[in-house]
Amino acid sequence: MSDAAATAGKDFIRTIITEDLAGGQHTEIVTRFPPEPNGYLHIGHVMSICLNFGVAEEFGGRCYLRFDDTNPLKEDQDFVDSIKADVEWLGFDWADRLTYASDYFEDFHACVVQLIEAGKAYVDSLSAEAIREHRGSLTEPGRNSPYRDRAVDENQDLFRRMRAGEFDDGAHVVRAKIDMAAPNLNLRDPTLYRIRKVGHQRTGDAWNIYPMYDLAHTISDALEGVTHSLCTLEFEDHRPLYEWILDNLDLPARPRQIEFSRMNVAFGITSKRKLAALIGAGFVGGWDDPRMPTVAGMRRRGYTPGALRRFVRSVGVTKKDKIIEMSALENAVREDLNEHAPRVLAVLNPLKLVLLNYPEGQAEQLTAANHPHRPELGTRELPFARELFIERDDFMEDPPRKFFRLRPGGEVRLRYGYIIKCVAVVRTDDGVVSEVHCTYDPDTRSGGPAAGRKVKGTIHWVAAEASHEVEVRLFDRLFLVANPDGNRDGGDYRDHLNEASLRVTTHCRVEPSLIGAQAGAVFQFERQGYFIVDTVDSVPGRPVFNRTVTLRDTWAKLERAELARIQ
Ligand code: ATP
Ligand code: MG
Repeated sequence: MSDAAATAGKDFIRTIITEDLAGGQHTEIVTRFPPEPNGYLHIGHVMSICLNFGVAEEFGGRCYLRFDDTNPLKEDQDFVDSIKADVEWLGFDWADRLTYASDYFEDFHACVVQLIEAGKAYVDSLSAEAIREHRGSLTEPGRNSPYRDRAVDENQDLFRRMRAGEFDDGAHVVRAKIDMAAPNLNLRDPTLYRIRKVGHQRTGDAWNIYPMYDLAHTISDALEGVTHSLCTLEFEDHRPLYEWILDNLDLPARPRQIEFSRMNVAFGITSKRKLAALIGAGFVGGWDDPRMPTVAGMRRRGYTPGALRRFVRSVGVTKKDKIIEMSALENAVREDLNEHAPRVLAVLNPLKLVLLNYPEGQAEQLTAANHPHRPELGTRELPFARELFIERDDFMEDPPRKFFRLRPGGEVRLRYGYIIKCVAVVRTDDGVVSEVHCTYDPDTRSGGPAAGRKVKGTIHWVAAEASHEVEVRLFDRLFLVANPDGNRDGGDYRDHLNEASLRVTTHCRVEPSLIGAQAGAVFQFERQGYFIVDTVDSVPGRPVFNRTVTLRDTWAKLERAELARIQ
């Protein structure tokens, strides 16, 4: 039994599946991930993918990647391609199970013909508005359409002519004949087919009518032999219709729909429509903007498939709606990158440091480990010289107590190098410190006679001349409130955008080894965080870095307080 199988049964869905297998209801588990290709995938979809593909993997079953392309107006090939790339990147394999709802257009049509023949569906010629009026409300029953009792042969004839394109959009629809007084509005003669005289990206001009989601989804599940149709809680009210369709058609399988709660991550939104609106308004650069909670954005930011899978596993599957802390996602990213990312030295906000007793013109190489506990990742040479850059924050003229970095008269160790002592500062006319002057102790180099001498602080640095200036992008959360979608303080999600979510700095200095870094490679800038070589804007010899995540959890506390306030 694999590790994954050993943990099976932990959440309520895996428990049901385990019981269904034990009870002999099924011998093979079949699931599906059914995205609509009208946007890029986001963190919520990652959960659904990990659940559907994960369950199939754990139970030795199969999972389909099925595009729900029943609405030709909103869908696009670019979205299909991005979704495939994202699922693959997450590490899942649909093998030969890539399908489209449009593959089954003839089947949906045949099913509706079957329903019409059985007197279980009819052509309604009311306008969309009149249909809405007849539907009633949660407190009032609906009323029957005057067309509800049309004869079977009239329905057959009208449906044939709808397909043939004889009518305009909205002239007729096909509705299931269920119960206009049903307490569940989804059962008040739901629409099954509508006229849409538009081309479709896969079927071209073949169809003038298109099926509604509930019909297409249920029949697709049954045709693919899906055993467990896992979907989010908003479909709970659709389950009676799902079952009505299965009960009233002659289909090869009887899938069971099970709902779970949506994944929401604090300070983000998971709605393709709203994410698209952020792009449309120019607030972010695109679906792959590293601040976006999309798979493409998270990949460009440096999140890894391993981290996302680890995160989803830690959150689990429930029926309870809650908002997951962003720090939980970031911690999963840190844990994963800590294992794999090579360490390098980079200075984000440089301050010049001169070693007064280091001979001019002298240069040497210091050896640095690429990873603190993975010697197999090797070492590299760091050029060292009289003039260096250190982080401006690592020097303070008048520091508080417990500041263990550099101060006038104080000592620190330079990472992988010598102990230095600050002896003077140089200022600009405005009084800003522009250089720090130090002396170094030549005996304190690794292997030297005083190598073991202890000082409280170690700081990072790069050589002034041998380092390279690069652009670094620092990101902050996209929204200022934890739940921009359902915010109690009112307002639209767009009212809570964080205007300071992107900070670009162009004067960072990195050690020379980074100049040849591959686009997409992730490094730990020691003491600073994890950074990825941007895959879009980097050119050979001129890498641009995106900060993936800081080393420490900087806003867990703030986030916890905010979430406690709203949920
Ligand atoms: P959106 O509101 O972003 O358009 P959607 O549900 O309409 O989301 P689909 O493409 O239809 O998007 O979703 C494909 C699958 O992913 C569905 O089974 C859906 O239930 C699931 N899914 C979507 N959002 C989430 C989420 N936040 N958490 C878990 N699963 C989700
Ligand atoms: Mg949807």
